Amino acid sequence: MIKMEYFKLPLKKKMWQDFSNLQNQVGIFDSYQNYFNALVGWVKKYEEEINNQHEQLFVRSGLTTILEVDIEKYLSKKPEISLELEIQRMFTERPKHIYALLREIGDTLWGLVRFDTEKGCPCCMGAGLNYVLAIAHNTKEKKVILECETCGYSENVDGSKYTDGFSDIYPVNDDDLVKYGVDCKKSFE
Ligand SMILES: [Zn+2]
Repeated sequence: MIKMEYFKLPLKKKMWQDFSNLQNQVGIFDSYQNYFNALVGWVKKYEEEINNQHEQLFVRSGLTTILEVDIEKYLSKKPEISLELEIQRMFTERPKHIYALLREIGDTLWGLVRFDTEKGCPCCMGAGLNYVLAIAHNTKEKKVILECETCGYSENVDGSKYTDGFSDIYPVNDDDLVKYGVDCKKSFE
């Protein structure tokens, strides 16, 4: 039997209702940290069920590494969202597909840990590139690189193209930049 493509899988009503109920959780919109942890908690609750539906769903939604992030250490200085708009944006309209919901969650979580470099993306000319930590599958080497969240373009800190192949991506904070020898003031001179 051919498995249905991951992006066509319907979002079950029960799962949506449970997600939508998060908006009533006490304190969820009190801080970015609370909101991040509530979303992560919900995804983890359904992790097995989601993986059983299709193994690509987590990977394609950017959820493989972000669930383990300690938001107390990695909260962005410039979070991408405003908490007072989240009920309308995330919890009101039921997406048709489970992938659409997971991708929204993935984008939201990454928006809360993004480390903006203020350097534009040379590939899609879109928003700024972000610092992230890449761990290459082949070499296991850890490296801070710049990545475009819109098109996925990535480059090394010196501006050369990142060519280490398929990598796991994690957020970074100021301590990581020091640890990996990245001077964020000097990078773009
Ligand atoms: Zn781009």
